[in-house]
This record gives sequence, C-alpha cells and structure tokens, in this order.
Amino acid sequence: MIRAVKGTHDLLGTALAYHRTVVEATRRWAEAAGAEEIATPIFEHTEVFERGVGRTTDIVQKEMFTFSDRGGRSLTLRPEGTAGVVRAYLEHGMKVWPQPVRLWYAGPMFRAERPQKGRQRQFHQTGYEVIGAAEPEVDAEAVVLSWRILAGLGLSRMRLKLGSVGDAEDRARYNAYLRERLAPHAQRLSEDSRRRLETNPMRILDSKAEADRRLLEALEVRPMLDFLGEAARAHFEAVQARLRALGVPFEVDPTIVRGLDYYVRTSWEIHHELLGAQSALGGGGRYDGLSELLGGPPAPGVGWALGVERVALAMEAEGLSPAPAPGLDLYVVPLEPDLVPRALEMAAHFWPELRVQYALKARRPGKGLQEAERKGARFAGLLGSDEAAAGTLTVKDLKTGQQRTLRPDEVKEWIRGGTA
Ligand code: AMP
Repeated sequence: MIRAVKGTHDLLGTALAYHRTVVEATRRWAEAAGAEEIATPIFEHTEVFERGVGRTTDIVQKEMFTFSDRGGRSLTLRPEGTAGVVRAYLEHGMKVWPQPVRLWYAGPMFRAERPQKGRQRQFHQTGYEVIGAAEPEVDAEAVVLSWRILAGLGLSRMRLKLGSVGDAEDRARYNAYLRERLAPHAQRLSEDSRRRLETNPMRILDSKAEADRRLLEALEVRPMLDFLGEAARAHFEAVQARLRALGVPFEVDPTIVRGLDYYVRTSWEIHHELLGAQSALGGGGRYDGLSELLGGPPAPGVGWALGVERVALAMEAEGLSPAPAPGLDLYVVPLEPDLVPRALEMAAHFWPELRVQYALKARRPGKGLQEAERKGARFAGLLGSDEAAAGTLTVKDLKTGQQRTLRPDEVKEWIRGGTA
C-alpha cells in the first residue's frame, strides 16, 4: 500500500474541521480589518526565499524543498508566505494602490524538518500582511489581530512574547558584540553555531542545542534589546503603548530572535502553555527591508503567520471543539428500482439550497429511514410510485418523527424552517 510521504498528513474529519475553523477565524478577523485575500503559488524561484528569508537562516540552509524545472531553473516549495506575498505586491504594482495594502492568506507551507509532534514537512499557515506603512499603529494592529483570532477561538493558555530586533545598524552592532563575546569560546558551541558565528551570530540565540544554551547563560550574553538605537527604541515603546491601550496582554521578551532574516524592529511570538517543545502557535514581525531585498522600492511592512496544525493541537489540549461540518439536510430514498433516476432529479432540484443525497438502490421504507439516520441526515424523503405520480415527497423529520407528504417547494420551506 502506498502511504502519504513522511511528515505530510491528509486533512479530513476532525482535523479538517479544526483546519477550517482556524482558516475561517483568520478570514473573519482579517476581513474585518479590511484585508483582501491573496493566494500566491506554492512554488517560487528559489531566489525569492534566498534573498527574502536570508541565505544564513536555517530555513534556507537546511529546510527547503528545492528542485530544478525542465529548463534547469531552481524552484522551491514555499517554506513561508511573506516573501511570496511581497514578491506579488511588487509584481502587481501594489505600490501605487492606496497605502498600506492589507493582505491575508491561508495555505500549505513546506519545510524539510525532522517530523515530530507539531512539526511537519507540509503544514499550513494563515497569515496577515500590512505593506506600505511604517507607523507603530500597524505593528499593534497586526499583533492585536493575531492575538484576538486565537483568543476568539477560545484559547486561554497563551503567552504573547514581544521583542524588537532593532534596525539593520543595531543588529550589525549586536552581531559584532556577539562575535567578540563568543569567538574565544567557539569550541564550546555546537557545530551549527560555530558556523553561525561566522555568518549570522544572532541566530545562535535561537539555537535549541544544550551546549549553546549553557554557554550563552554562563557568559551572561546581553540581549538584543540593549542594543536598540534611538529610533528602534522609540518605535518599540510606541508599539507597547498601543498594545496596552488595546488591552493585549504581552510580556517583553528581550531574547526574542525570529528564524527569518528579514525582520527589523517589532517581533513577536505567541506560545501555548500545553504544547511542550513546539509551543509557538504563530509569530510575526516588521520587515521594512524585504521589498528592497527582492529588487523593489522601499515598502515597509509588518505581518504574522499562525501555524494551523499547532493551533488545532492547542484547541484540543484545552478541550475546545471545532465548528462541526454541516450535515445532510435530506436523504431521498426511492422505494422502487425505476425511481432511482427520480431520486437523483429530486436531490438535484434542491441543490444548493439544501444539502441532499439520495440512495442508489431501492429500499424498503424502514431500511431507508435507518440509512438516512446513519448518514446523519435531519430529514428522510420517501419516494414511492404515488409520490412520483403526484410530484411529491413523503418527508420525515428524523428528530421529531413528524411526517408529511409535500410538493418540492413545500419540502424546501419545511426543511429550511426546521434546520434554520
Ligand atoms: P515561522 O514562520 O517559522 O515563524 O512559523 C510560524 C508558525 O508556523 C509557527 O509558530 C508554527 O506555529 C508554524 N510552523 C512552523 N514550522 C512548522 C512545521 N514544520 N510544522 C508545523 N507548524 C509549523
């Protein structure tokens, strides 16, 4: 038997119900904030991510599914959504739309990570981007949306960690500091972090390796926040003030470093207390230089992504059920073999106002009602030769037991009344 590829999952049943609940919540809140939906391709030229996410990041160095097309061009399955959205912003000239442009998306992302609970190779994100504004209000807008979507799903055991990674020059100073501080102890770092010491020392702060954690602690390495320049500090304080005014509970986390190179200034993650090692439900940040990295004009932006599967795990851990998929309204049962085509016609007549299925074989009434119940239908419709001759259907409400023989328009009315 052929199975799904390791680290990928089919979405169906309860998993799909959770998935849909998270996507619909994102749609509702993002559209409430005036965002337009965007769906970018799931693969892009590899450069989009190399330049956008950053060559020194774990994502680009180790986690991308990259392949060549038939013309030998390098393509990559998207590991995240922002770089593609900003590429689309530039390609479609959104720079001349009224700024800022607000976009939201939902879809699969791909990272060649070691699969474990809460970590997959194909996973799903919903995301929100505000492009073309540098004001602290839009940072706060993005944070409050990401928080309220999750809170609105009923989640409570969450922690919002807010930080700032400063401006490019602040980061350069911090990287220089880290290099100077850590270089004499390089042999105590993990192999990955020794490489990071050359390419991008800030990444070491994100390391999960025990050796790295111990060394950082022992050396009492100062946090990025100590290195913020005046402008980045003022921006960070303004964002905090806006969030307090909006009633968003956050904690300043001086150590926050996100795994993508394009972030500047505001950066945040939302963690869930019951999720164990992979506890981040989502995260976001400001990415003012990203447009230029992709060859565009300056276009400051801020955005976030939520991990749909993680949010589902968190909801499960808190005992929260997804919105159930709607069941069948009506199951039409032909009582004679030659009435099967009429049953199909009857079902088709009701679509799409009612959700209707029909039996492909003639059933005795008792058996037909049983089958309707097994299918989870609210009503059963019996179609015998009398009904066929009169153009009616004998409909039974499977909840109340009430039964009436009605014309199709009356059936519609009764059922819509009964299920509304
Ligand atoms: P990131 O772009 O890495 O900040 O990811 C945003 C969110 O996507 C994370 O907080 C997770 O909830 C989710 N996520 C990232 N990588 C994975 C993965 N491999 N499997 C499942 N969810 C993931």
